[in-house]
Amino acid sequence: MPGLQRYIPPHYTQEHHVFRAMVQRFVADEIEPFASEWDEAETFPRDLYTKAGELGLLGIGFPEGYGGTEVDLFYSLIVAEELAAVCAGGISASLMSHTIGSPPIKNVGNEEQKKRYLPSILSGDKISALAITEPDGGSDVANLKTTAVRYEDHYVVNGTKTFITSGMRADVYTVAVRTGDVGMNGISLLLIDRDTAGFERTPLNKMGWWASDTATLYFDNCRVPAANLLGTENQGFQAIMLNFNSERLWMAAGCIAASRACYNEVLDYAQQRIVFGKPLSQKQVVRHKLVQMAQRINAATAYLDQSR
Ligand SMILES: Cc1cc2nc3c(=O)[nH]c(=O)nc-3n(C[C@H](O)[C@H](O)[C@H](O)COP(=O)(O)OP(=O)(O)OC[C@H]3O[C@@H](n4cnc5c(N)ncnc54)[C@H](O)[C@@H]3O)c2cc1C
Repeated sequence: MPGLQRYIPPHYTQEHHVFRAMVQRFVADEIEPFASEWDEAETFPRDLYTKAGELGLLGIGFPEGYGGTEVDLFYSLIVAEELAAVCAGGISASLMSHTIGSPPIKNVGNEEQKKRYLPSILSGDKISALAITEPDGGSDVANLKTTAVRYEDHYVVNGTKTFITSGMRADVYTVAVRTGDVGMNGISLLLIDRDTAGFERTPLNKMGWWASDTATLYFDNCRVPAANLLGTENQGFQAIMLNFNSERLWMAAGCIAASRACYNEVLDYAQQRIVFGKPLSQKQVVRHKLVQMAQRINAATAYLDQSR
């Protein structure tokens, strides 16, 4: 049986194909040979960010004036797929953490904030993270508890965030805080620089994605300039939601591509492994299982392709 190939539907253009080939080369040269070593080391070299930035991979979907490339959503999905195709999800998660940390800067930040942060993030010189989840819960964003109380020209932030990707080594964190009443209309977004007094972090171990930098963040009377407020006070929930849909598509593209890579490894194993005189792949139960897996991967891919 041949491996499971990704069917590329006709709405992908020649430009998409050229771009995909470029990302595949980057992954083959700069990531695949080192992926296992970096997973064992639970990190990867920081210069991977600048290499990805030089190629324009970090700027996809961001405005050209700040170093980005304004293209359609499928370019982002291609990056997600090709990074995941070598089963290096941890590297991809941290390398691309700006795709969740920086859209609020692009979408609701003011000119000064965009100029200060976006060019250095999109070039890979600075790392951007998004901090929403708290130890008490992640899905229920509207009930987050970290507080930011305004005193004249600054906010005082208190609380804890957890499971934060690029949590240890990010330079700037987009942090969801409570500035108002309970519920979704009391949430704001603050940009918090890593060296701000009262801001500490500790690394977390994970079952997978070892190369990804995941941390718990602690804010203890952390003073953040009021000028670091992103958008309008108490309108942060809406700013967060603006990016959740494309984030979900990005995750779906990565998960499906990783499933396909796992499937092809399983298939290869089933064809090589001889049991009771025959390759596993010739046993009927195993063949059924493989077909069902391929069906589900192809069905999920078809759903993804309808996101256009
Ligand atoms: C590797 C990793 C990286 C992450 N990176 C980041 C990051 O960079 N920034 C960040 O802010 N967060 C990050 N997260 C956190 C992630 O967004 C949360 O884990 C997620 O939002 C779920 O929150 P939770 O873990 O608190 O689970 P909970 O919200 O407590 O949910 C627990 C369970 O209940 C289910 N559930 C929740 N609500 C409902 C409902 N209404 N009805 C039925 N079932 C429900 C959930 O599906 C889940 O199975 C990361 C998590 C991981 C594992």
